[in-house]
Amino acid sequence: MTVKILPPGVTASAFDQALKAFAGIVGDEWVLVTDQDREAYRDFFSFSDTHHLASGAVAPASAEQIRALVQIAAQYRIPLWPISRGKNLGYGAAAPLLSGSLVLDLSRMKKIEVDVENDTVLVEPGVGFYDLYHHLQERNIPLWLSVPGNSWGSVCGNALDRGVGYTTYGDHTSRICGLEVVMPDGDLVRTGMGAMAGAPTWQLYRYGFGPAWDQMFVQSNFGIVTKMGLWLMPEPESLRGFDLEFDKPEDLEWVVDTVAPLRRDGTLQQSPSIGNWLRQAAVLTTRKEWYDQPGALPDSVIEAIRKRFNIGWWSISVRFYGPDEVTAASEKVVSRAFEGRPVLSRKDAVWHRGQPREQSAWAGVPTTMPLQNANWHGGRGGHVGFSPVMPTNGRLALSQFQRTYARYNEFGMDYHGSFALGERHTTNVNQVLFNKDDPQMLKRVQQFFHALVNDATRERYGEYRTHIEYMDLVADTYDFNHHALRRLNEKIKNALDPHGILAPGKSGIWPAAYSKERSDA
Ligand code: ADP
Repeated sequence: MTVKILPPGVTASAFDQALKAFAGIVGDEWVLVTDQDREAYRDFFSFSDTHHLASGAVAPASAEQIRALVQIAAQYRIPLWPISRGKNLGYGAAAPLLSGSLVLDLSRMKKIEVDVENDTVLVEPGVGFYDLYHHLQERNIPLWLSVPGNSWGSVCGNALDRGVGYTTYGDHTSRICGLEVVMPDGDLVRTGMGAMAGAPTWQLYRYGFGPAWDQMFVQSNFGIVTKMGLWLMPEPESLRGFDLEFDKPEDLEWVVDTVAPLRRDGTLQQSPSIGNWLRQAAVLTTRKEWYDQPGALPDSVIEAIRKRFNIGWWSISVRFYGPDEVTAASEKVVSRAFEGRPVLSRKDAVWHRGQPREQSAWAGVPTTMPLQNANWHGGRGGHVGFSPVMPTNGRLALSQFQRTYARYNEFGMDYHGSFALGERHTTNVNQVLFNKDDPQMLKRVQQFFHALVNDATRERYGEYRTHIEYMDLVADTYDFNHHALRRLNEKIKNALDPHGILAPGKSGIWPAAYSKERSDA
């Protein structure tokens, strides 16, 4: 039995009154405040079972209902934490940043409107990657998704947290075209061309007239997105590419420098990611099959695991999408760049329209396979992501890897890292895998994470996305001119949301009403 959790500064009787008012809008069955309900909105991957606890949830069915709910929330000062499907595992999942917040669960809102003429879709927040995939498949609509490694979540929530996928449409947030948003005061806004009622170009032209606000609602707490326009990839005539394995940690440097110019000049249009052996191994096996001692795995064990599964220290996959002649030519150009280089092994992939599609994220098919890595240590598994953004440069990538690897060893954790090459930047995605039933390990995770952030900050590399536990820590590293950006964000926050009811603390943005809740970085 858990103790009833209340929003900060709200009495039990005011909370009950607010819940009755919410129920008047959505119906009793969609106000979810039993112990069991609260349990369902936990972050199961979190290293802590006592942080970020919801007071309950309310699940509206429409934007109109949300408009009414935010007004009640403002009246009773109930902080709302919007989620689409709440599957943002590694970043907080369904749990709110501020304990006592009421989760605004939008997973009932599942409308999908595909524009087959223009290859776009307008989705409501509850539409999952599997929902959209099945919707397209069942209707034989020749459009492909870009899906993240964990495709359990929603199309909308993932793009709002700048999630990434594997195709040329993999930078999900950049494919947003037009939003509908409920503002904290209950107003309803459409961005871009949607600002003109009935405009046929809402999903076609991003900017509209005047300032373009789509990104204002991404990783922010300025509004609740109730519809999202997105561009989808027309089914290509062919998909081609190859996977390469490399033997040594030092290979990272030349691999980055080989791929970087091809990424910049547009030969490579998706973001290839150079990942270490554990990225593959952690979904194929578990640690206890190989080693039962604490501390990072010794090299001899790493060698044995790599040998067993034929995997390199690093691997990379590149893929091309489009007309057959074009993908064949691109593949040739990229293959040439690797000629004469110490490549351990190569596996080719070719697909032509009409053939059965590979069931993988490369082909835009939703997957949850990578979630298996939470089982690496056994026990109740979890992980947290640490992902600084850095320049695309082999020498810098190698030193970032060496610095991070030394930290993993120091804290006795198994290194799970990758370098995803954007057009100009690289995101160094590290996963810290842990066993929630190992208190010693959990104690180390906190210190370890702080050490990683400090090291990256010294290089002036900032994280692109972070777990709710670390939002203040990361926001604090964005420090130009005494945190001018945070001050601007909070000015906007206070203007739009004077009672601070929407996701207080999200991305380190604290409204005045809750400013005491900011954690010391
Ligand atoms: P998913 O289930 O797709 O993985 P989540 O629902 O967990 O995504 O949400 C990911 C992040 O985006 C969370 O920080 C959440 O607060 C925010 N978010 C999700 N949906 C919305 C929305 N409709 N409006 C505003 N913010 C949202």
